[in-house]
Amino acid sequence: MQKPKGTYDVLPRESKKWQYLEDVFRSVCSYYNFKEIRTPIFERTEIFHRSSGEESDIVKKETYTFTDRGKRSMTLRPEGTASTVRAFVENKLYVDSLPQKVYYYGPMFRYERPQAGRYRQFTQFGVEAFGAESPLLDAEVISMAYHIYSILGFDQLVVKVNTLGDQDSRDNYRNALVDYLTPQKEYLCNDCKERIDTNPLRVLDCKIDSFDSPPNMSEYRTEKAQKFFDGMLEYLDALGIPYEVDETLVRGLDYYNHTVFELQATIEGFGSQNTLCGGGRYNGLVKEFGGPDIPGIGFAFGVDRTLLALEAAGIKLSKPEYINCYVATFPETRVEGARLVDALRLSGFITEMSHEEKSLKAQLKQADKMNAEIILILGEEEFNNEEIIVKHQGEQINVKLENIIDYLDSLNLGEINE
Ligand code: ATP
Ligand code: MG
Repeated sequence: MQKPKGTYDVLPRESKKWQYLEDVFRSVCSYYNFKEIRTPIFERTEIFHRSSGEESDIVKKETYTFTDRGKRSMTLRPEGTASTVRAFVENKLYVDSLPQKVYYYGPMFRYERPQAGRYRQFTQFGVEAFGAESPLLDAEVISMAYHIYSILGFDQLVVKVNTLGDQDSRDNYRNALVDYLTPQKEYLCNDCKERIDTNPLRVLDCKIDSFDSPPNMSEYRTEKAQKFFDGMLEYLDALGIPYEVDETLVRGLDYYNHTVFELQATIEGFGSQNTLCGGGRYNGLVKEFGGPDIPGIGFAFGVDRTLLALEAAGIKLSKPEYINCYVATFPETRVEGARLVDALRLSGFITEMSHEEKSLKAQLKQADKMNAEIILILGEEEFNNEEIIVKHQGEQINVKLENIIDYLDSLNLGEINE
């Protein structure tokens, strides 16, 4: 029995790292006033076709699509924006005050060629902000992504920004790009040959082809689009976010316009899956989903890749395993011991005892293995005197059973390990 290709198990010894990262995401979201949205893991297939575009890699070759028993076509979500926009429109969240700022965290599914940092089930953390067409909101979202890494102590990364401009800018550039690409069509990969007709911008995002000197996007930008972009850069400067403008940065999905950005790891030897986070503005998508014409901007973090990058940078996220209390018993006191263990757990102490009868020596060995901060020994004689032996930092004393929780509270257990 083996896991499906391109998936992984998060084992108990690793899950703390994931939880820690998730905690950082959640707290940064709360500082920036983003609230969690939870949508289904699967949606009607057309939801993703509508948002990503028929010609996107995701729709063309990466979806996990199945027909359910009611003969409806369903797709495991490959990304979070489509479901979020669907829920935003369906639940009319736009009648509340705008902007609405939400975040999501969870598994995504894409049928890809598995490799380090690229899986078929992977985890994304993402945010979406609806309702303000302001360069300040773009800067806020980029700042948030950047600061998640600074809080984690990770600085080996570059923030790349670009603008695809408004529809007119995009159309102007598209024409120029088609003129540039057509003479070299025969040298392009099969995907790019098709993209020239369907979505030429995506050629710049190809993992196979690279281009010497494609036409410069900024020359085809409308004045209005340039002004929006300059406004955003001014805010980024003011917020102290280091960034690089990359005129060739485009994103893989159809729905982007104006600001696009990526956070890329710059660790030497990290490999090609170095885009940790990508995002951009998607004015028009809410309308496309049957809602009012409300603009939006968001990003998605690859949580898996972020963990790999933090590891490669030598940033330790997990603390050593430990427990607060180990309760050692004798055959005569096991039942009382079990009662005490439960009481300690419900008072907030991570507590264990042996599930089998064992010699005291074997129990002390187990306590050591579990890295117990304190050992409580419930001897028969002590129990008859309503007392218990407490071993802590090489010292041993007797404590009245009725005072044990107060006593443990006074020790501030867990502080060294947390
Ligand atoms: P790529 O160009 O690497 O295929 P993408 O443009 O398809 O990425 P997005 O859809 O923007 O990626 O997803 C945002 C982030 O999610 C990516 O930057 C990456 O960190 C992560 N991600 C995307 N696909 C995978 C995957 N198959 N496995 C792990 N992480 C992924
Ligand atoms: Mg991809």
